[in-house]
Amino acid sequence: MITEFILKRKLEDYLSHVRDENTIYVTDLVRCPRKIKYENQYKELSITQVYEPSAILGDLLHIGLETLLKNNFNADAEVEAERNIQVLGKTYKIKGKADVLIKNENDKKIVIEIKSSRSDKGLPHIHHKIQLQIYLWLFSAEKGILVYITPDRITEYEVNDPLDEATIIRYAEDIITLRNAPKFNWECKYCVFSAICPSKLS
Ligand code: SF4
Repeated sequence: MITEFILKRKLEDYLSHVRDENTIYVTDLVRCPRKIKYENQYKELSITQVYEPSAILGDLLHIGLETLLKNNFNADAEVEAERNIQVLGKTYKIKGKADVLIKNENDKKIVIEIKSSRSDKGLPHIHHKIQLQIYLWLFSAEKGILVYITPDRITEYEVNDPLDEATIIRYAEDIITLRNAPKFNWECKYCVFSAICPSKLS
């Protein structure tokens, strides 16, 4: 009963995301451009990722910590924002959702990004740091906190420098032109499309 409920909820959430061709999500900017293309092209393969227990565990952890922060700080959870950029002569919308947004006593914004991980090796991960830097740009926030919950360590890192717009435009160009696939060498190892991908790193 519970398993069915969790999986149904996860699937509904996944299917509710309809991708508009002029919208680029912040999460897309920090991952393999070719994988984004394949997720649209091979939806039946893509959907299997929804049932990954580690992803479900991460979702539940987000819900828990977001609720705790909302109840104890001047905080909102799952806050959306969008901003336009010009890429290769066209307007694209960069859209993102901060896990938690806190306003401090001076009305300055703090973005909190929650991450779960199987291990605490190599923290903070560079793609998580860049993601938070893009949120700082998107929300015009002063401060970012990257929180990790792992079986071995619960820790946090401050990230206070927003990513510059020129780099964000370059990352968007990567997606549009399928340049720099994969974005990080480790991505192919965990990619459901590695069986069909010409750019796979072996
Ligand atoms: S196998 Fe590697 S290059 Fe190909 S889509 Fe997956 S992550 Fe990208």
